[in-house]
Amino acid sequence: MAKIKNIAIDYFIVPLKGNLVDALHGKHTNFELITATAELEDGRTGTGYTYTGGFGGAAIAVMLKKDLVPQLIGIEMQSPSEMNDYMNQHIHYVARGGIASFAISALDIAFWDIDLKTKNIPLKDAFETGVNKVRTYYGGIDLMYTEKELLENIERQLNLGHTAVKIKLGRQNENEDIERVKAVRSLIGKDALFMVDANMVWSVPQAIRMAERLEEYNIAWLEEPTNPDDYEGYARIGQTTVIPIAMGENLHTIYEHKLAMEIGRISCPIPDCSNVCGITGFMKVAKLAKDYSVKVHSHGMQELHANVLGALDNRGYVEFHSFPIYEYTINPLQVKEGYLDVSKDPGVGVNFDWHKLQIYRQ
Ligand SMILES: [Mg+2]
Repeated sequence: MAKIKNIAIDYFIVPLKGNLVDALHGKHTNFELITATAELEDGRTGTGYTYTGGFGGAAIAVMLKKDLVPQLIGIEMQSPSEMNDYMNQHIHYVARGGIASFAISALDIAFWDIDLKTKNIPLKDAFETGVNKVRTYYGGIDLMYTEKELLENIERQLNLGHTAVKIKLGRQNENEDIERVKAVRSLIGKDALFMVDANMVWSVPQAIRMAERLEEYNIAWLEEPTNPDDYEGYARIGQTTVIPIAMGENLHTIYEHKLAMEIGRISCPIPDCSNVCGITGFMKVAKLAKDYSVKVHSHGMQELHANVLGALDNRGYVEFHSFPIYEYTINPLQVKEGYLDVSKDPGVGVNFDWHKLQIYRQ
């Protein structure tokens, strides 16, 4: 046990390259990265982080600096799970889920980093199986690419080592969505893992109609076909199609994930450590998924999720997201024949290249 001496919060806005558009959020021009580095009185340190698609990062940084950090300085560091409970109790009244879950995530990951370094074990060995590599897929933000650009990009990703892909759907003209799916399926071959993501824009009847049209293309999952708060709608969509239904990046508490599985009947939960109260929250969702006999997948920040899923028996696929946070770490991830290596370093296995990030500091 040691007291928390200091927690440094840093906020970066990092520009994105290319025409990254999805159905709900429009064009992404940058991502926000908010880091938390905790230092104990005995000198041990750990770093965690969260990110956004370009909005809300300043509010997260302020909640960390003004509401969470002052409550943590000077207290004894307990287990990451106990620290997580403490943080949630502290700001629950004003911020259950939402921004609070993002802010707590950054600190939770930092506390995990300290805890694992203290035990001298990598994240992959903290829970169940501890494998050395995990399956990944490329997640494009490619809704407004022309069909030619879409196919060129996928070809590029296959050449980089990917064997599985996800594309965005939700164009104004439904026929264009189907044409793009058909073209991608033809490019990658009939057996390659292929997912689609509508980013919440369809009504329930539209999602049911589109799912029926997608069935002939061997789609591994249909992600966020409609509003993530409409759990009954998810159940209705899932009942009418053989395509597994996925969601999770917009669920920020374990209770929301439970509703998605219990009422929404989703079979592909896709939580994100950056917005579900960190590794502690992710592991609760993974346990819940196990109770429902389904695999757990990950959204975003692949440099951490490779190590998280590497620790789980019921691991699914790591999304190789188009926000390249991994490019700002030491020894960035490489895809090899559809797999990512899992870190063997003690801690959470993500070490930022602060020098490279420096110019984006706010
Ligand atoms: Mg998605």
